[in-house]
Amino acid sequence: MIKKILEKENLSPEDLLTLIKIDNPQDLQLLFDKAYETKLKYIGNKVYYRGLIECSNICIKNCKYCGIRRDNKNVDRFALSKNDILDISRWIYKNGYGSLALQSGERTDKEFIDFIEDTLKDIQKISNNSLGITLSLGEQTLDTYKRWLKAGASRYLLRIETTNRELFKKIHFDDDLHSFDKRLQALKDLRTAGYQVGTGVMIGLPDQTYEDLVSDIIFFKENDIDMIGMGPYILHEETPLGQSSVGKILSDEKRFELSLKMIALCRIYLKDINIASTTALHALDPLGREKGILAGANVIMPNATSKSIKPKYQLYRGKPNLEDDAITGKLALEKSLKSIGEEVVYFKQGNSPHFYNRTK
Ligand code: SAM
Ligand code: SF4
Repeated sequence: MIKKILEKENLSPEDLLTLIKIDNPQDLQLLFDKAYETKLKYIGNKVYYRGLIECSNICIKNCKYCGIRRDNKNVDRFALSKNDILDISRWIYKNGYGSLALQSGERTDKEFIDFIEDTLKDIQKISNNSLGITLSLGEQTLDTYKRWLKAGASRYLLRIETTNRELFKKIHFDDDLHSFDKRLQALKDLRTAGYQVGTGVMIGLPDQTYEDLVSDIIFFKENDIDMIGMGPYILHEETPLGQSSVGKILSDEKRFELSLKMIALCRIYLKDINIASTTALHALDPLGREKGILAGANVIMPNATSKSIKPKYQLYRGKPNLEDDAITGKLALEKSLKSIGEEVVYFKQGNSPHFYNRTK
């Protein structure tokens, strides 16, 4: 039955549900093989890097799952200076990554907006406008999104976290700062501004069902999403959700497996989009990122932030490679990707083919 479903060119929601419920190793392998075959067809045996810069852990939000949420008083707050960010950007550029990603806690004040705009302009200056820049800086106004795009960014990652409104309310405070409708509007604004738009969800949240995850995949399709960054939900004990979900979520192994299934289904269903094999996968399995690639992902975001800063940016417990500097991580990752038959593409941005196919 699974074989028959996987032979179809277009899957129905019922097919997606059957596939996400697969629970035996043979069928699971068939699913991953089909996803990898689809990746080879639309992307090739290629992996693109985005050097990740964790710019700041200062955040105005209080998401119930996140270790750097506003109310976590145990966090040593930091914000990299423009020079710090430029130094790391230079390293990323010289090492041929082709793209970088700026990520931080959310701020919407004028100082922050101006700072990011200035920094983007300077990053493009040092790289002769050749770097692809992804931003992951939360919900902003359309005007801010437009300014940052003009200053040099071209992609934006804003996760919907879950498309189930009720579940969204459970994992956030139900207030104006954490509103599902505002998140939807922000995703629309990103499209209007002209970004390659990325979104994603956390996988294995308490009370999340298979049906929810299938609805997430259909949401990605209906919203014509260009890139996906998603991964397992991982507890952080200094958060309200981390405390209340002890014993109420799937095991690490099952959340890891479910995340790989989500990657595979997104590849098969959405075909030519960019899909990240995320750090959270790596946190649950030392070969998590490689397994994500073999399940259909094509982007990895190696952490380029210095090792003195990395421990301060802990969204969840068990963040990997805290002791590694960027170059050690680069060499080890390249070797292991090669061993699974994948080629890291250097000096290319690796934009979402879906974005170009849609806009041409
Ligand atoms: N502040 C920005 C935002 O929320 O979009 C960007 C940085 S935020 C830390 C990036 C992502 O981290 C969130 O979208 C969320 O999905 C993920 N995240 C936060 N806490 C997590 C946890 N405990 N387990 C897994 N992912 C988590
Ligand atoms: Fe802030 Fe993003 Fe964490 Fe929410 S997920 S608390 S917005 S850093």
